[in-house]
Amino acid sequence: MKLEACEVTKRYGNFLALNGATFQTGDAARVVALLGPSGGGKSTLLRVLGGLLLPESGEVRQDGLVLPHTEDGALKVLRQNGFVFQGYNLFPHLSALQNVTLPLTQVHGQTAQQAHERAVELLTRLGLAGHFHKRPAELSGGQQQRAAIARALAPKPRLLLLDEPTSALDPVMTGEVLDVIRELAEGGQQIVLATHEISFARKVADWVVFLANGRVEESCLTASFFNEPSSSLAKTYLTGLSKYR
Ligand code: ADP
Repeated sequence: MKLEACEVTKRYGNFLALNGATFQTGDAARVVALLGPSGGGKSTLLRVLGGLLLPESGEVRQDGLVLPHTEDGALKVLRQNGFVFQGYNLFPHLSALQNVTLPLTQVHGQTAQQAHERAVELLTRLGLAGHFHKRPAELSGGQQQRAAIARALAPKPRLLLLDEPTSALDPVMTGEVLDVIRELAEGGQQIVLATHEISFARKVADWVVFLANGRVEESCLTASFFNEPSSSLAKTYLTGLSKYR
């Protein structure tokens, strides 16, 4: 895929979270990592790229197609994409299985039988066989996040958008979830990932978009970013990260 943002701005109240963010990936990016310091705008950009937030101005394109600027238009794009956020956003009163089937029947028009088969297939693939009937509170954090990934994948999204999917997890659970994401990437799933897991991004992403202060400071192949960052902000960021590793 090719992802592009052109002069995208987004404000929360008076605060300019995206300030003319502009980038374009290569034509065949498969896993795009949004990196940068906290508060830089990664999460906001991820939501704009997936159609979850409308920008105030500017434009986003997926494979040359402009994301619609109207709420109805953006909703169509949104339904083709899958989102996973940092906290677990599972419905607390539903089982893991129901969490996956509900959007399939309610939003994507599948029959109960189709939704059930798809949910069983995905939960099994993500290592949750035997946990179908547990509610989120009865699952570990890693299991909850894997169920959230299953739910996002169930409608076969064009793009899977992951916003700091491991930041609420301990190291073991982080490893479990990163393994799942790596397998999806290796299987060809198109992914946009906002993350602080730098070594993971280095291994799995093929394109890096580095944001700070609401602006894209670098957009380049992953190897170029890590081997020869060009902006001073990216150099400082990478040096700061390597200090305690
Ligand atoms: P990042 O993901 O890089 O940490 P975010 O996109 O979450 O950055 O946030 C960018 C800036 O916008 C931050 O300073 C944050 O405090 C602010 N922000 C994010 N969401 C909101 C919101 N709903 N209301 C007010 N400010 C927000």
